[in-house]
Amino acid sequence: MPNLSRRRMLGGSAVAAGAALATATVSSSSPAQAAPGDPALTADVVIVGGGLSGLTAARDLVGGGKSVIVLEARDRAGGRVYGMPLGDGTTSEGGAEFIGPTQDRIAALATSLGVQTFPTYNTGKNVYYRNGKRSLYATDGLLGAVPPDWGILDLEIAMLRIGDMAKKITPGTPWTAAEAEEWDSQTVHTWSRGATISNGARFLLDAFISSTLSCRSKDVSMLYVLNYVASAGNETNPGNIDRLINTKAGGQESRFVGGSQEVPLRLAAQLGDRIKYNAPVRRIVQENGGVRVEADGVNVSAKRVVVAMSPAIANKIEFLPGLPASRAQLMQRFPMGSVAKFVAVYDTPFWRAEGLTGQALADSGAIDATFDNSPPDGSRGILMGFINQTNIRRLDGKSPAEVTAAGLDSFTKMFGTKASTPLRTAFQRWDNETWSGGGPVGYTAPGVLTEFGPALREPCGLVHWAGTETSTYWTGYMDGAVRSGERVAQELLPLL
Ligand SMILES: Cc1cc2nc3c(=O)[nH]c(=O)nc-3n(C[C@H](O)[C@H](O)[C@H](O)COP(=O)(O)OP(=O)(O)OC[C@H]3O[C@@H](n4cnc5c(N)ncnc54)[C@H](O)[C@@H]3O)c2cc1C
Repeated sequence: MPNLSRRRMLGGSAVAAGAALATATVSSSSPAQAAPGDPALTADVVIVGGGLSGLTAARDLVGGGKSVIVLEARDRAGGRVYGMPLGDGTTSEGGAEFIGPTQDRIAALATSLGVQTFPTYNTGKNVYYRNGKRSLYATDGLLGAVPPDWGILDLEIAMLRIGDMAKKITPGTPWTAAEAEEWDSQTVHTWSRGATISNGARFLLDAFISSTLSCRSKDVSMLYVLNYVASAGNETNPGNIDRLINTKAGGQESRFVGGSQEVPLRLAAQLGDRIKYNAPVRRIVQENGGVRVEADGVNVSAKRVVVAMSPAIANKIEFLPGLPASRAQLMQRFPMGSVAKFVAVYDTPFWRAEGLTGQALADSGAIDATFDNSPPDGSRGILMGFINQTNIRRLDGKSPAEVTAAGLDSFTKMFGTKASTPLRTAFQRWDNETWSGGGPVGYTAPGVLTEFGPALREPCGLVHWAGTETSTYWTGYMDGAVRSGERVAQELLPLL
């Protein structure tokens, strides 16, 4: 499958916004509602969440001359973008990592912050580990990166059908499609068992879902996945499945020099003390024509609030008065995928010398997809593997040593015995993270988008919504997060 691996208008205005960031101020006062001893702040807008969506919204609002306070639950910015410490003073991407064509908004943001990209290592053959057998395959043949499994034609026909169906979706509003009810009444599993006849094609379709959404095909609505495919593009290039899943010319084409976390960290540095860390928001109260946002250690009064996170995590916040039922129910029906990243560090990227890309796909073991995560100069080798859905749940309660053993066992099956003796290892689980609840993205089961989808971006009084899940293009990706922050700032500026 095209690498079946994970994931396959700022420009000059950013400079202006950056300059404004340096000069705008945050006002402070003492509203009556502040808890004794807690600082009480005021701003035009309070943003809940210091991930890429919240930080981008803050940048644009400050650029528009508004005062902003960002309340972030963690002690760091970036949310699902995180540099995982390797124990030697360096980091490797523990969350979001790749960027590809048509992901224009994250690209523009990174450029404005001086963060460069470099190509994901993609020279040589991929590894396919299936039914206990390891095989190698080239990704530049007629079938592209599709692994050599029986049922490839069956798969190709199914993929073409998915592509045709996705063309009928308007990205961001899939519930408006003529066949929306039909597609939202079945899971990808149900659809694929009707659309294919071979085990190989079914396995690869399941692997497509696992590697892009970190859930099982039986968890997710066909309509959701068709929208995901349709959103893998931009205003001038319609989304398609190849761009979604490929490395070459796809979503996994490039990485960031210094790691993806450089983008949110540099943006957060520009926002300075407008960001309050270790400040989980517990309650949002709309009263007296404004909002009061109550976080641990600080309260903020503002004209409007942006909730910049996944619907599932927003559901942990208490809203007074309560949200409309369609929004409240949507947040109960938008679970996160289950994913972890496991990395092993070696003296050299030894697989390169053996003619391998470092990309693999497996049907067994803890890790189902891998990448070469080495630094740009290849001065040391880093293999990264995804532990997705059922596989990560199987590691519940296991010690770090047991998780490490499971990860190295997978790498060894894929890349040989050299993989069993790394210099060091690290892993990052997202499903156990209080302020993420999983990753890479929230998804919906059948029946949700057609009934509750219109509530996804609709403001609830003075409460506005951002987060990659709300994005029209590249929902689920860093690009979608940035787009959603830009969209919500544009939504707010005329109202302030
Ligand atoms: C393992 C993994 C791999 C990924 N790979 C890629 C990739 O290769 N390429 C790509 O483009 N994308 C990838 N993604 C997806 C990408 O990380 C997300 O789409 C993006 O970072 C989401 O940004 P966001 O601002 O919408 O949400 P988040 O990053 O989740 O930000 C929300 C913020 O809100 C904070 N928060 C939550 N609750 C509260 C509260 N009550 N009070 C205050 N703060 C709160 C959180 O701490 C967080 O900082 C990956 C994600 C994961 C987990």
